[in-house]
Amino acid sequence: MKIKSDYANEPRWKEVNVKSSLPKEMESLDKLAHNMWWSWNYQARNMFKSLDEKLYEEVGHNPVLLLERLSYERKEAIVKDKELMKRVKEVYKLFTEYMSVKPDTKRPSVAYFSMEYGINQVLKIYSGGLGMLAGDYLKEASDSNVDLCAVGFLYRFGYFTQSLSMDGQQIAKYDAQNFNSLPIERVLDKDGNQVVVDVPYNGYQVHALVWVANVGRIKLYLLDTDNDMNSEFDRPITHTLYGGDWENRIKQEILLGIGGILTLKKLGIKKDIYHCNEGHAALCNLQRLCDYIDQGLTFNQAMELVRASSLYTVHTPVPAGHDYFDEELFGKYMGAYPEKLGISWDEFIGMGRTNPDDHSERFCMSTFACNTSQEINGVSKLHGWVSQKMFAPLWKGYFPEENNVGYVTNGVHLPTWTATEWRKVYDEYFDSSFISDQSNEKIWHAIYNVPDEIIWNTRMALKKKLIKYIRDKFTQQWLRNQGDPAKVVSILERINPNALMIGFCRRFATYKRAHLLFTDLERLERIVNDPEHPVLFFFSGKAHPADGAGQGLIKRIFEISRMPQFLGKIIFLEDYDMQLARRLVSGVDIWMNTPTRPLEASGTSGEKAEMNGVVNLSVLDGWWVEGYREGAGWALPQERTYENQTYQDQLDAATIYSLLENEIVPLYFNKTEKRDYSADWVGVVKNSIASIAPHYTMKRQLDDYYSKFYEKEAQRSKKLHANDNRLAKEIALWKETVAERWDSIHVVSKNIDELQDVVTGRKTHLTYVIDEQGLNDAIGLEFVVLNSDPSAEQSVHEVIPFKLVKAEGNLYTFEVAFEPDAAGAFKCAVRMFPKSKLLAHRQDFAYVKWLD
Ligand SMILES: *Cc1c(COP(=O)(O)O)cnc(C)c1O
Repeated sequence: MKIKSDYANEPRWKEVNVKSSLPKEMESLDKLAHNMWWSWNYQARNMFKSLDEKLYEEVGHNPVLLLERLSYERKEAIVKDKELMKRVKEVYKLFTEYMSVKPDTKRPSVAYFSMEYGINQVLKIYSGGLGMLAGDYLKEASDSNVDLCAVGFLYRFGYFTQSLSMDGQQIAKYDAQNFNSLPIERVLDKDGNQVVVDVPYNGYQVHALVWVANVGRIKLYLLDTDNDMNSEFDRPITHTLYGGDWENRIKQEILLGIGGILTLKKLGIKKDIYHCNEGHAALCNLQRLCDYIDQGLTFNQAMELVRASSLYTVHTPVPAGHDYFDEELFGKYMGAYPEKLGISWDEFIGMGRTNPDDHSERFCMSTFACNTSQEINGVSKLHGWVSQKMFAPLWKGYFPEENNVGYVTNGVHLPTWTATEWRKVYDEYFDSSFISDQSNEKIWHAIYNVPDEIIWNTRMALKKKLIKYIRDKFTQQWLRNQGDPAKVVSILERINPNALMIGFCRRFATYKRAHLLFTDLERLERIVNDPEHPVLFFFSGKAHPADGAGQGLIKRIFEISRMPQFLGKIIFLEDYDMQLARRLVSGVDIWMNTPTRPLEASGTSGEKAEMNGVVNLSVLDGWWVEGYREGAGWALPQERTYENQTYQDQLDAATIYSLLENEIVPLYFNKTEKRDYSADWVGVVKNSIASIAPHYTMKRQLDDYYSKFYEKEAQRSKKLHANDNRLAKEIALWKETVAERWDSIHVVSKNIDELQDVVTGRKTHLTYVIDEQGLNDAIGLEFVVLNSDPSAEQSVHEVIPFKLVKAEGNLYTFEVAFEPDAAGAFKCAVRMFPKSKLLAHRQDFAYVKWLD
C-alpha cells in the first residue's frame, strides 16, 4: 500500500465559551452587566467606567466585554478598593430594588414585534428611528412597570458602520458581533440547553437559537439562525438588518412573525395584545390564525379573535415604502398555508392585496397587517391622517377621514436621552415626582425658577463635552482615512465652543433634504463666517448602501466641508450611532430638520433635543406640527407653496437663511457687557423645556397606547374569548350570514322626491324601505353629504343617520330629515352598511352598498 502524502479529515470544531472568572465579591457586576438597565442609569455607567476608565473606552462602553477583559491585577485591586466596592454595592442595590417590582397586572399585557431595537450602541440590532423607538419603548415599559415582552433578531452583522474615503465616498463595513461578549444571555430549557425554535419554511425547517436581552424588567427575545443546524442558505437570515435580497427579506419576515409566535408558545408566554411595530412582523397574525384553527375554530372565527387583539403601527407615509412580494416568491414559502387555514390560495394572497381579485398585484405586508388587525395607527397626528389616506383604497365604501386609523405621536425615553448634566438640574429644581410623572407639564414649569446662568452654563458644558468627544473620536480616524494632517488638525482646532452650533443628523434618505442648506453657498459662507457671530453646522448620518442618491449627498456635504471657506464650519461626522446621537442632541444649540412634506412620519431626534434645552428649527411636519410653540423654536410652514419640488426647496432654503440672519443668530449673540450670555436665548430654551418637552416623553407615548388602543382591545378581546369563544363565534356567524345575503338585500320602495326641491331653512325628508332578507335589524342607512367646493379634495361634509321607523317582517322602513346649512350645489348619496353593536368599528366589516 502506498502511503498517502496527505490524509486528514475535516476538523470538528466545537464552540467552547471560556468565561473569565470573577472574584466572588464581583459577581453582582456580572448580573448588572447582563441587564441593559445600565444603558439608562448613569450611576451604573459611571460605576462601570471607574472599574477601568481606559479599558471602558477601549471596549466601547460595553460592560460585559469590560469584565471579560479586566486584568487579574485590576480585579484584585478593585476588590481591595473599599470606596469602589461600596459604589458597586450601591448600584446593585438600586438595581435589585428596581427589579423587585412586579408588573402591573391591571393593565393589559403585550407582545411586541419589531425588526430592530435601539437600546444601546453596544448591541447593533438597529439602524435608525424605527429601532430607536422600539428600544425606547421597551425601556419605558420597564420603567412604567407593564407586562410586556418583545421579539426581534440577534443580527450577526447588524447594520453597517460608516467611514468616508478621502473623497467622501461612504464605506460600509459589516463587523461580526461576538454574541458571548454582548449584554445578552442564552435562553435555556429545563435541561440547561439553549432553546431552539423550529420554524416551518414550506417543506423544511429553520432552527433559530433563542437569546434574551434583559431590558430592565422587560425580556427581549432575540432569534438567531446563524448556527450549524441550518444550511448555508438559511444561516444568513439573521445576518444583516435591511440587507440581502427580497428572498432573504421574506425569510426574515417569516422568522419574525411566525417564528416570533412559535418562540412565545415554546416559552409558554401568552399576552392580551399583539403589537406589530411596522408591517415586517405582520405574519405573527398568520401564525395566530393557524393556532386558533388548530384548536378547532373556523377561519372566520379565528380571524375575529386575532383581529380583536392586534395592533398595527405604520411608520411609512407612502405606499412605496411598504414591503411587497411577488406571487411566485410568496408562493414558494407560503404555499402550505391556505390548506392550514381552510381557504383558497387566492383568498389567502388576497389578504395582502388592495384588490384581492387582481392577480397582478403583489402581496403587501402592510395590507395584510391592516386586514388582520382591529386597530391601526400612525405615529403623529399628521401621519395618522396621511395613513388614513394611504390605506383608503382598502375600504372602498368609506372616505379617508372615516377610516379607523388612529395615531399615537412618538416620544423618546427621557432617562436615555437626557444628559446627566440636565438630569441634575431637573433633580434639583423639579418636584421629586418628576420621573414618575414626567408627562405632566406643570412639573416642567419649574424650569422658570432655574437661574439663567445655570441654564447657559449647562448648555456650554455640554457644547464643550461634544467638542471634546469629537476631537477624541475623530482625530485618529480622520488622520488615517482622510489624509492631509494639516487640514484635519485645522478643522478640529477651529471648532469654536462660542459659535452657534446647529446639528442636522439622521439617516441620509433623500426626502430628509440634507442638501437644502447648500442651495446658496455664498449666502451660507457669509452666515458661518461672521467674525462676531460665528455659526457652525454638524452633519451626520448613514445612507443605505443601496441608496446612491443618499451617498451622493454625503459626498457633496463632505466636499463642501473641505472648501477653505467652510473648513471647521461645516463638519461631517461619520458613523452616526446612539452614542454620537446622545452627544449631538445635547451638545448643539439648534436641531434642524428639513423633510419634504409630509414624508416625516414623526421624527424623534428633535424630541431628544428638547429634553436637553436644544431648540428645534424644523419644517412643520411629523411631530413638530404638534410640538411647535411660538417663542420656543422655529418653524417652516406646513403648507407647500409650490408643486414643483425644486422651487419649494429654494423657498425653504431662503426661509432658513433669513431666519438665521434676522432672528436666530442675533438672538443667540444678544449678550451685554454685564452678562456673558444671551438672556433672550435662555428664554427660548426655558419655553421649549417647559411647554414642549413634557409632551414628547416615551411615558406619554406608552400611556397613549394603553388608553387609545390596548385597553379597548383587551376588553373586547376578553369578551370574545369568554365561554369558549362564544361571542367570536357569534360575530363570525353573523358576518357570514350578512355576507351571504348582502347582494340580495334590496330597496323595495323609496321616496326621495323632496331632493328635487331643497331649500335652506327647510327640512328635506327621504324614506327607504329595505328587504333585509330575514336578517333582524342588521342594516343601517345614512345620508352622506360631500363638501361642495369643487377645487378642494373630495371630503365628507356631513353624515346623517336614517332612523328606523317601522319593521314589518323582512321590510324595514328608514327615514331621514336634513336641512342644508348653505345654498349651492352639493353631492349626496345614501349608504347602506351592516349594523351591529358587536362590531369594533365600520371597517371591521366594510361591506357597503350605495343606494340609488
Ligand atoms: C433618534 C435617532 C434616529 C432618528 O432620528 P430622526 O430625526 O427621527 O430621523 C436615528 N438614528 C439614531 C442613532 C438616533 O439616535
